[in-house]
Amino acid sequence: MDNVIEVNGITKVYKMGEVEVHALCGVSFSIERGEVVAIMGPSGSGKSTLMNMIGCLDRPSGGDYYLDGELVSSLTDDQLAVIRNKKVGFVFQSFNLLSRVSSLANVELPLRYAGITNGRRDLARAALESVGLGDRITHRPTELSGGQQQRVAVARAIVNNPAIIMADEPTGNLDSKVGQEIMDLLLSLNKERGTTLIIVTHDANVAAQTGRVIRLIDGHLDEESNESKPKPKPVPVKRKRAKVQKEAGEGSES
Ligand code: ADP
Ligand code: MG
Repeated sequence: MDNVIEVNGITKVYKMGEVEVHALCGVSFSIERGEVVAIMGPSGSGKSTLMNMIGCLDRPSGGDYYLDGELVSSLTDDQLAVIRNKKVGFVFQSFNLLSRVSSLANVELPLRYAGITNGRRDLARAALESVGLGDRITHRPTELSGGQQQRVAVARAIVNNPAIIMADEPTGNLDSKVGQEIMDLLLSLNKERGTTLIIVTHDANVAAQTGRVIRLIDGHLDEESNESKPKPKPVPVKRKRAKVQKEAGEGSES
């Protein structure tokens, strides 16, 4: 079995003066390469904390975390930043684009951080083409619709060919039709590139399109929820096929 993520008994304790908040209390699970997984749970249950661990934005207080075969739970901040840049693509609810620069410059950013100088522009352009925005590369975020901005964010997330895409409520700021287009896009990228997709969501309709739901309750895993479903259910939303060109962005490390 090829597990891209393995977490073994991870805990996270936030210290606030005298008070300790136990945000994660020994969580264990693994995610296979190419899986599509939803993380759900009530507010305060530890979803963002878990997402920060998985995305290498923060380290657990205890336990082990292996990302793509590498033990990352005990790396230094600088080492963690390198792994994060290489292995993880992020998509946020509020897009988090730089508003003053073009789509192309936004998508080039992870390549800049990775120290890639050759062909940066072409890689960024290919990523934008693969999300159907080949004709919007010079537009700034303010000149794009919400759905288009989220597509730029998806292009930015995939440009480094990461092992996993972490999406935190990716459809939360979009109406249901455009939200579904973004889901279709993420699912098609998963299918065509095999990129593991992890989506934090409150939306049952989004979760129904994943292969599996990991549910958190008070920093614990709801074990019963942690099982693969036989098949994603079809959703009763009018679909518009996301345009994804196959050739774009291939050929980097895998
Ligand atoms: P969720 O994303 O499911 O709403 P979080 O992971 O944000 O949950 O929070 C889990 C628990 O940890 C909550 O009780 C929250 O108040 C606490 N918490 C989260 N971040 C911090 C922090 N930086 N400092 C202190 N407590 C925190
Ligand atoms: Mg949260």
